Amino acid sequence: MEPAVPPQASLLLVDDHAGNLVTLQAILAPLGHELVTALSGEEALGHLLRKNFALILLDVQMAGMNGFELAAIIKRHVPIIFMTAVGKDAAHVFRGYSEGAVDYLVKPFDPDILRAKVSVFVDLHIKEQTIKAQEHILREHQREVLERENEVRYRRLLDAMPQCIWATDATGHVDYWNRAGLEYCGLRPEEVSEDSFWEQLHPEDRAAAREDWERDKRGHIPLERPIRIRNAATGEYRWHLARAVPERDEGGAITGWIATATDIDDQKRAEQTLEATIALRDDFLSVASHELRTPLTSLKLEAANLLRRARRGDLTDDRLVTRLERIDAQAARMHRLINELLDVSRIVAGRLELSLEEVDLVQVVGEVVLQFKEEAARVGCTLSIAMPSEAVGHWDRSRLEQVVTNLITNAIKYGGGKPIAIEVVEHGDRIRLVVCDHGVGIPPEDQDRIFDRFERAAPTRNYSGIGLGLWIVKQIIDALGGTVTVDSIPDRGSAFTVELPRWNGAALTRPPAADLDHPRFPELARGAARSP
Ligand code: ADP
Repeated sequence: MEPAVPPQASLLLVDDHAGNLVTLQAILAPLGHELVTALSGEEALGHLLRKNFALILLDVQMAGMNGFELAAIIKRHVPIIFMTAVGKDAAHVFRGYSEGAVDYLVKPFDPDILRAKVSVFVDLHIKEQTIKAQEHILREHQREVLERENEVRYRRLLDAMPQCIWATDATGHVDYWNRAGLEYCGLRPEEVSEDSFWEQLHPEDRAAAREDWERDKRGHIPLERPIRIRNAATGEYRWHLARAVPERDEGGAITGWIATATDIDDQKRAEQTLEATIALRDDFLSVASHELRTPLTSLKLEAANLLRRARRGDLTDDRLVTRLERIDAQAARMHRLINELLDVSRIVAGRLELSLEEVDLVQVVGEVVLQFKEEAARVGCTLSIAMPSEAVGHWDRSRLEQVVTNLITNAIKYGGGKPIAIEVVEHGDRIRLVVCDHGVGIPPEDQDRIFDRFERAAPTRNYSGIGLGLWIVKQIIDALGGTVTVDSIPDRGSAFTVELPRWNGAALTRPPAADLDHPRFPELARGAARSP
């Protein structure tokens, strides 16, 4: 065991007689403390400013500043033993105590008594210092424990937060990520580095985000910008709002940065969808108004023309019929367009109501073909039909008419004046309708999207339309539990195929079998169906 080193203290000896100081030093040296001497009050003050003393031995009678005056300046911060010559009166002694003396010694001293007294005060001082040091150590320890506890608590708090949080030092070097950040980026704590952060950003965002960060870091400005961060679990980049704020010490100097990234992907996507929807709506409005204006203009012209001729009285019956037919055709076109628009709002609002009944698809096709026979003939198309005598199912008649109408009018519109073949085939519980033309066809990459809203594949300047017909067809067929598909080769033609279950879904009850056999189809439809 190491020998215990006795604790050392410093004593200040003040006397204007050097000889007295030498005597004092000789008496006190055996105690082993540091002895500092001063020959005047002023010199003593200089030492007191620089050093912490356990005790002052102070001569009362000194030239210049005497002992009492020096004691008054020291103001009881250090214990003082006054030393005085023999024969001084009691008043003198009393003044010494009132100026802060802890003891009073009369010269010449008994060396043992002097050492004993000095030892008492020095021991006291050393104990006091030891207690202070221990208190300091205890306080430091408590502070460290508290700091550690706080750190653990804050880390737990940060780890419990759903946002990605990371911290950097003053230079911007990343030295901490919270659990959410590590998990989101698929990193282990030891992989955390500044580069590990930038690598998680979308390549398109990296340079700009880094530029902003460097600029704001230099300018000590908090940063706020959207960035895309890669999700390790899915591999997708999600939009986050990144914010970095400086951490400052008490003097205001920046000691680091704390950054958070809040997932705003859903919000961002909603905004993008909204923007796309608004753009689509604007496009649609201009196309729709143009499409409505075209038939309306011809309708107005025809009506004005008719009126002028009627007023002049030069209208023969023949001409009247032709002109009224044109007016009727334009009005029908407008009617169809407006119905399509109304259907969109109904379908989007989820109000496509089906009124199901027993319907013969053969009859429906026959009626529609009859209706469009002349229009087809005008553009040089022939309509041929191959159908069984009937194809009965449980469907919505007017919606089915709409489907057939849309497919046939498209075949006429995009059919390039070539023959159009319509076929109805029964196979078991399903009925198939095929409308096949030999016109412009549809490029393979467009064949899916033409069933979406407002999607068109043909050049708009050559073909009128608003891109809703096939979407409506698909909505109706979906609602009836069927499918609609297209096979097409550009410049060779298209075949649209609708497959419908005769009896759709659990909600619909199959009508009694007897009903199926009941002949109830007007001759007109059959006749038309056979020879369009
Ligand atoms: P619209 O005819 O008003 O544009 P549709 O929804 O009926 O709207 O059709 C969407 C697009 O599909 C059309 O613009 C056209 O490009 C293409 N299309 C539809 N039917 C045919 C067809 N029979 N032949 C070639 N292209 C077609």
